[in-house]
Amino acid sequence: MAGGLSADEEQALQLAGAQAIAYRRSVPDRPVTPRIGLDEAVARFRTPLDEDGIPAEQVINTLARNADDGLNQMSGPNFYGYVLGASHPVGVAADMLVSAWGQNAGSAYETPAITGMERAVCDWVINLLGLPDDSGAGIVTGATAANMAGIMVARNALLAAQGWDVEARGLFGAPEIPVLVGDAAHSAPIAGLRYAGLGAERLVRVPVNAEGQILPDTFLHALNTCERPPLVVLQAGQINSGAFDPFAEIIPAVHEKGGWVHVDGAFGLWLAAVPELADRLRGVALADSWAVDLHKWLNAPFDAGMVICRDRAPLVRSMSARGAYLPDLTAHWEPADSTPELSRRARGVPSYAILRHLGRKGVRELVARHCRLAARVATALGAVPGVTILNTVHCNQVAITFGQGAVGDRQTDAVLRIIQQRGKVYPTHGAWRGRHIIRVSIIGYATMDSHIDRLIDEITLAWQQVQGSER
Ligand SMILES: *Cc1c(COP(=O)(O)O)cnc(C)c1O
Repeated sequence: MAGGLSADEEQALQLAGAQAIAYRRSVPDRPVTPRIGLDEAVARFRTPLDEDGIPAEQVINTLARNADDGLNQMSGPNFYGYVLGASHPVGVAADMLVSAWGQNAGSAYETPAITGMERAVCDWVINLLGLPDDSGAGIVTGATAANMAGIMVARNALLAAQGWDVEARGLFGAPEIPVLVGDAAHSAPIAGLRYAGLGAERLVRVPVNAEGQILPDTFLHALNTCERPPLVVLQAGQINSGAFDPFAEIIPAVHEKGGWVHVDGAFGLWLAAVPELADRLRGVALADSWAVDLHKWLNAPFDAGMVICRDRAPLVRSMSARGAYLPDLTAHWEPADSTPELSRRARGVPSYAILRHLGRKGVRELVARHCRLAARVATALGAVPGVTILNTVHCNQVAITFGQGAVGDRQTDAVLRIIQQRGKVYPTHGAWRGRHIIRVSIIGYATMDSHIDRLIDEITLAWQQVQGSER
């Protein structure tokens, strides 16, 4: 026993560090796609639990060996699926310390070092996103949780303004809250509305244009039919097109009605950090609450996101688990008061490390580079016969389709299958404007021009192969 660790435990920690380094070194040269399927992985791991344990070092060794060909290289520069960050190594290093420190980050009194760093992260992110300085913020698991929290706060505040204390009395008998959502909203805020008891089917879905942006005139018409102050959910960064809702035209009108605007900005809010792109978000800072991810564009290791509210008081009223005892909001900053969890890991610390490492300039360059690379992909592939880019590139998302109509949809699926099987690059599927698409999301910290060359080549090659097989 050396201090707090047995020799075996110490070896396990050393081994994990070495394995982590070996893995991350190898990532860019590996096929992105896992080489085993789910059945094989389950068969491998889902063994009966033995009566006797095995040494720590052996556990880590076999775990790493058995996982190896079942990992997707999401942290590498060739992963373009969904919208996922790539776990920046500085964040991973900080995350190892987070686990080692074993701090329950819910309490400022007991873990001052963590709260100090997380307060800084909240300040920095709010500032980088151009949101009001004295906003309240909670560090949650991701944008799904952040949307849920923001929507619950909105519900609390809208009902409080009508003399209904939803925290005490619940929803039965409460005044109705009209809910307006763009028709191209992400499923996460819709789930948030469900979790908040506002229902997924009683929403008014407001029409959008071909980019998925709410149409201001139609929206104002729908707003005028609301008989009570509404909750309006807007979007910064549509999942397929990357488009932004017209915040400046919508938000003041909602406020005139006494309504609340919540913005799902999981990835798109980060454009605010780039002066030459920030105008695409014009008016977004007028909203009342925002959801943003740290594990997407900031490339924090999973999982981390942030709920931000202009007014901290209703955030704490909604999220604090202290019940009747409401803390003095100004004197104390209890992390657990702004999130749905009491006990939680110090999930803001990796973001602290990444922000210190990148600085403002690094964040700016990261976001600007991804947007530039997305435009490159659209221009290059848009020039290939039979390929259609289905969106204007608003930021880092590119929606690509092949051929025409139903036949084209099957060709698009076939192209994606070839690309994913080859495993040199890894975009994923989607559906947009009535077509099957390959969606390319450029958001990994390590993705550079050379990787984009490879992406363009792989997509072009697979398309040629599909066409060739049909001749
Ligand atoms: C990813 C995403 C979400 C959900 O975020 P998670 O971090 O996966 O919980 C919500 N909205 C948009 C627009 C997203 O891109």
